[in-house]
Amino acid sequence: ITDLLTRVDDNIWEIPEDYSPGMNVPGRIYLSEKLIRDLEPETLDQVANVAKLPGIQKFSMAMPDAHLGYGFPIGGVAAFDEEEGVISPGGVGFDINCGVRLLRSNLTVDDVRPKMKELTEKMFEAVPSGVGSKSRLKVTDSELDDIFLHGSKWAVENGYGEKTDLEHCEGGGCIEGGDVGNISIKARKRGRPQAGTLGSGNHFLEVQYVDKIYDQEAADAFGLEEGQVSFMIHCGSRGTGHQICTDNIKTMSQASKKYGIQLPDKQLACAPAQSEEAQNYFGSMICAANYAWNNRQMITHWTRDVIADTFRSDIDELGLELVYDVAHNVAKLEEHEVDGKKKNVYVHRKGATRAFPKGHKEVPLKYRDVGQPVLIPGSMGTASYVLHGGDRSMDISFGSACHGAGRVMSRSHAKKEFQGEDIKMQLEKRGITVRSAHPAVIAEEAPGVYKSSSDVVNVVHELDIARKVAKMMPMGVIKG
Ligand code: 5GP
Ligand code: MN
Ligand code: MN
Repeated sequence: ITDLLTRVDDNIWEIPEDYSPGMNVPGRIYLSEKLIRDLEPETLDQVANVAKLPGIQKFSMAMPDAHLGYGFPIGGVAAFDEEEGVISPGGVGFDINCGVRLLRSNLTVDDVRPKMKELTEKMFEAVPSGVGSKSRLKVTDSELDDIFLHGSKWAVENGYGEKTDLEHCEGGGCIEGGDVGNISIKARKRGRPQAGTLGSGNHFLEVQYVDKIYDQEAADAFGLEEGQVSFMIHCGSRGTGHQICTDNIKTMSQASKKYGIQLPDKQLACAPAQSEEAQNYFGSMICAANYAWNNRQMITHWTRDVIADTFRSDIDELGLELVYDVAHNVAKLEEHEVDGKKKNVYVHRKGATRAFPKGHKEVPLKYRDVGQPVLIPGSMGTASYVLHGGDRSMDISFGSACHGAGRVMSRSHAKKEFQGEDIKMQLEKRGITVRSAHPAVIAEEAPGVYKSSSDVVNVVHELDIARKVAKMMPMGVIKG
């Protein structure tokens, strides 16, 4: 594969513009010598295809966790000019605003170990999980509108959390400019019973402990220390986001033809950024993103309740503060510098996390001298990481980093390779409690289906896209 690429620098590979006809910009892949060997050629083609879309800026990029996705690769970052560019649902993904949040605590490993069974059992009960799982609360149509337009603010105003939670969340847990006018009845129907549910498969609620601190100053700002227990929540916009994506792929496919956009792959369906079709999608996508933030906020609330109940203490005493919440499947209108000029671009991050550096006005005041917290899960058996946005992120990745370790094995292959019960037993032997709605999920999500999170994280660290702050190891995992 390296024969097809130009090595620009350590961890930086370029797909030259003559790799395939029609590329408007080169591709950039951020990978180490070691990881580049695992990259499938099809992923390379996807990066090159994205480079053919109108109005793409600088490079079509792939993060070190990149693998094959729907049209756009997962781990892909692409920014398009506000006027000349396009917006594409495939560049965001089906689970709009899938994302990760981290709760810290004052609890230590020794406090929590003896209570793991009770804690995970209660969490499993408190947070509905599995395909099509229903919430403890069915919201009304007007409540759903509020959630679509205001995100986590709805949860906080309705007793699911505190004001400070909003400050410790990307964009305050809401993107302004949502438009409920184009959301289908079907998307609404799927949305009402699922506010506050984990969903299935890759989504999880995890008890972790801080194994190592790399950056004391940043760890102090984030409230993290070695031996401490933390809680990680990974989920997105559930059925409603999926439906909004599906609905819009249909209209975008027609729009691509209408506006005469040559698509190298029909999964890259898109429309000119300012067209009615693109703006309709964008307004609905914002609603799904807001739904996801509200979802993670409600789950946070129930998780806190369970922890407080298990340790017979209260939330303040236990120090259950939200460290941060990041989206990793979303498109946003952001200001970036291109060719020495500041301009607005639609940044599509699909399986990529925002990673703004210190001093950026969107980094919460509390973290402004350090950089935005960047949350990178590993797997149910390997390390997850907290980083902070690095000084080169604005320059080389439109302020983005990887979002996980990234798959190396498909779900169907994993089900043949692994047995859920075996994996569960192996993990329990290592002191990791696993609870899931279906055993098959454990096989599909076995640690062996993912790249090494340490290898992946080291790439963004070395590139100064995001810098390592802390490493966390799993103690207990609730899987959807
Ligand atoms: P995705 O959003 O692409 O489904 O998943 C993001 C990342 O989460 C994956 O690339 C993988 O590294 C990580 N991940 C998947 N399952 C688990 C889990 O059970 N625990 C942790 N800590 N990380 C996981
Ligand atoms: Mn998801
Ligand atoms: Mn995700």
